[in-house]
Amino acid sequence: MATDVVTVTQLEAWVRRFADLIAENRAHLTELDSAIGDADHGINMDRGMQAVLGKLDAAPPGAADELFKLVGMTLVSSIGGASGPLYGTFFLRFASACGPSVALSPDDVVKACRAGVEGLVARGKPELGDKTMFDSLHPALEALETAVGAGSSPGEAFSAASRAAARGRDDTVPMVARKGRASYLGERSAGHQDPGATSAALLFEAAAAAFGN
Ligand code: ADP
Ligand code: MG
Repeated sequence: MATDVVTVTQLEAWVRRFADLIAENRAHLTELDSAIGDADHGINMDRGMQAVLGKLDAAPPGAADELFKLVGMTLVSSIGGASGPLYGTFFLRFASACGPSVALSPDDVVKACRAGVEGLVARGKPELGDKTMFDSLHPALEALETAVGAGSSPGEAFSAASRAAARGRDDTVPMVARKGRASYLGERSAGHQDPGATSAALLFEAAAAAFGN
């Protein structure tokens, strides 16, 4: 169905919505990182996504690969922390999987998301339960694949993925961190929600909003 296609305009709306949600949650993300990290996750992500918005305004991309390459390169170059290369890799792999399309089928979107998550895993080597962004990305991707496989529209599929990401984010609270700065705290990292899992849930929340209408 033509209405099920995700256009470059909607993909750009996704990226812009993510930037807005990061800006709104900047203080919250930084507060979470102050408990088990170095209190910069909100600052890092907001700096990166504001730089992305600046570039999108200056030169709106014409194709999906151009859009996500811009996002990935900008995050890699403007974020100092671990999240820069991790999100950067996600978006660069996403870009390669899309190719120069102006509209993606739901299957194309799933493929691109899977490529993005696989790239992030290759980069950071997170495993489930390590208390990282992967703990919300993985269930989100699974829910997305299931929903698209069952014929859901992109809006419905990303709503399901967003709910799964939120559950994955909440599940990080009791975990003991085994990757990143939080792992230096050992057992003391338990009882706190992971900042990266929290921003990753916003990525899916943004997509559900952008593709929902
Ligand atoms: P830094 O830890 O360098 O200050 P940020 O604060 O921006 O970077 O990001 C921290 C988040 O990065 C963590 O909450 C976690 O979700 C994620 N993270 C850190 N290391 C890894 C890793 N190896 N794999 C996946 N995610 C990671
Ligand atoms: Mg940090």
